[in-house]
Amino acid sequence: MSSRDSENYIKKMFREYYLKWDGRPPKEYERREYGFVPSRKGDVLRHVSFNDWREMKEFLAKNAPLHVYYSSAYYLQPSAQDMESKEWLGADLVFDIDVDHIYTPCKERHDKWLCLDCNFNGKGMAPEACPKCSSKRIDGKAWFCEECLNVAREETEKLVEDFLMSDFGFSEEEVEIVFSGRRGFHIHVENDVVKQLDQKARREIVDYVKGMGLILEGGRKKAHAPPLNASGWHGRIARGVYELLVGCDKEGAGIEEGTTKTICEKLQESKGYWLVEGDVCRAWLSLAKKAVASKRCNIDERVTIDVKRLIRLPETLHGGTGLIALRIDIDGLSGFDPYKHAVAFNSGEIKVKVAEAPKITFMGQEWGPYLNQVVEVPTGLAVYLISSGNAEVSP
Ligand SMILES: [Zn+2]
Ligand SMILES: [Zn+2]
Repeated sequence: MSSRDSENYIKKMFREYYLKWDGRPPKEYERREYGFVPSRKGDVLRHVSFNDWREMKEFLAKNAPLHVYYSSAYYLQPSAQDMESKEWLGADLVFDIDVDHIYTPCKERHDKWLCLDCNFNGKGMAPEACPKCSSKRIDGKAWFCEECLNVAREETEKLVEDFLMSDFGFSEEEVEIVFSGRRGFHIHVENDVVKQLDQKARREIVDYVKGMGLILEGGRKKAHAPPLNASGWHGRIARGVYELLVGCDKEGAGIEEGTTKTICEKLQESKGYWLVEGDVCRAWLSLAKKAVASKRCNIDERVTIDVKRLIRLPETLHGGTGLIALRIDIDGLSGFDPYKHAVAFNSGEIKVKVAEAPKITFMGQEWGPYLNQVVEVPTGLAVYLISSGNAEVSP
């Protein structure tokens, strides 16, 4: 069967999902702009707004779009055709943690890319431009494995628990975690104070979360080391150093054992800031640098800084996977499995012709690897493989 049949099949499944859809509206939903990608051609239908959430439900059931987005911004005229006349009123603070932008070693095993101009190709993370001909027309085949999921989850926990709740003091109710539908998580902060922040203020938040511009008193002979329970980055660095020392990194840190012992003991007993000097100071600073690298949060800064961005609407389907952009409780994050909890189609099996797919654990069972073969798989996996361009429906 053709890709046309596959597209029709996906449309039919998405419509089935949206006929029963009961997604919760975002805060002040009538002030938001909505955008839709109706088909594989990829054109975006923008500047849509709804005064009644029932209209949204009807729209989704009728059109079954591949992607559904909404603005993190609130506007006076959300459906105005140009950004100027929309009259911006504010925006939620949004973070994107996406394995697409984070190096994970497992990508060398499961990701591939191909230059569409010169056919040069490779394994692992797709480069921005082709190393051979500099073309930017790169086609990547990316997968999201358990290792990738763990990395995305850890970054999300760090962001939400350490930065947003502990440092910034947001409550659990103000922070919403949503599976992106593909390779990561979106974190939305809805709060009247953040709503008014301009791009510059958001840039500051990005820098803080990414640990940019921290001054570690490098090159000095003396420094003040913080205690483990210090607030903000100070405590984060102290804890990071402590974890490095009680971990197996002592040799890797290239620091003499006596010095690491001194630092370790000091961190254990210190209630306040303590002075480091000479060799201990040098060791401390080099460890602090490593601690920053392990404690910083790997967010896609463009998303946070942009105050007029469209972002996937929670509980809608991702057209590139058929998975649900599921809202997740912070407590549920550690047990979250996208290939189980975010699967929209849970009954039946269908035959698909798979071009290529690595081994994947789906609904708690292992499938694949496949290479140019016709297989019968659960509907949810079929939708996933077809949506991601790795399979076609088979007669
Ligand atoms: Zn090339
Ligand atoms: Zn992986």
